[in-house]
Amino acid sequence: MITIDGKTKICGLLGYPVEHTLSPVIHEVLARHTGENFAYIPCQTEPSHLAEAVKGAYAMSFVGCNVTVPHKSEIIPFLSSIDPLAAKVGAVNVLVPEEGGFRGYNTDLTGLGRAMRYDGVSIPKEKTLILGAGGASRAAAFLLAENGVTNGYILNRTLESATKLCDNINTTYGRTVFKPLLLSEYDKLPGDGYLAVQATSVGLFPHNEEAPIMEEAFYEKCSVGYDLIYRPFETRFMRFFREQGKPSFNGLRMLIFQGIEAYEKWTGKPVPDDVVPEVIEALEKHA
Ligand code: NAP
Repeated sequence: MITIDGKTKICGLLGYPVEHTLSPVIHEVLARHTGENFAYIPCQTEPSHLAEAVKGAYAMSFVGCNVTVPHKSEIIPFLSSIDPLAAKVGAVNVLVPEEGGFRGYNTDLTGLGRAMRYDGVSIPKEKTLILGAGGASRAAAFLLAENGVTNGYILNRTLESATKLCDNINTTYGRTVFKPLLLSEYDKLPGDGYLAVQATSVGLFPHNEEAPIMEEAFYEKCSVGYDLIYRPFETRFMRFFREQGKPSFNGLRMLIFQGIEAYEKWTGKPVPDDVVPEVIEALEKHA
């Protein structure tokens, strides 16, 4: 357990709601592992109070903040500066104090990249696809774009949001990074061997038996599955891969590494990857 005293470095989570966050569990392990006097406090922040909350956290010398739904884009006007990658994505999940205010970063994107490296999943230049076109998909799509993906696909239930996300990314990078497709039209994907990133909310606890595509033929086109959902630990999407003898991963390491990357920015202390099993154990105990 942490002991709070006058020297404790305080970090806040600004979100609405924040009741179900797992981040305090992650940061407690990181603080213990690195020997920091550090406390992570979820702060329920109504949208109408966001500007005041940012000012207040800065005024009270918080060493940083996490930002979660629904504030990740809305918070940008209240920051003193923004990291270029976060600006491209248009979403911020980490605030770090600087002269005059907070600078915003996006460690959802970099955390996913580090999680994939940790899991030994490499991002191919071609043959990648993402299921979903919401906030998580956006972070994944920009990560893949940053890694040189071309002619990938974003499949979504609503074609309009997939098209909007593809247009946004293709314009930003000046090439065809992604093409939009309806989930139901997966049979139009050319060839097979795809890295499939699952970024819809389908299959999230307690809907453990659901996947955005329930047909085996889709999974025959894929070689590896990366689900951003971490509860349950094995989703129906992942099970389709297992049943075909193919590797698949859940979103737990993404969650952990976005936390690690934030923690490193707040404390200036590098966190070695060997802390990951300890964090997973703490999260499993908490579940
Ligand atoms: P979001 O912005 O609300 O987007 C939800 C996406 O799911 C949309 O593309 C939506 O399609 C699709 N969807 C919802 N219900 C569907 C259904 N019945 N059939 C087909 N598609 C459906 O949510 P988000 O913030 O991107 O989060 C998505 C998932 O990522 C969540 O489950 C969350 O657990 C996970 N996540 C994980 C991490 C991590 O650190 N591992 C971080 C963030 C999020 P439409 O456009 O058609 O509505």
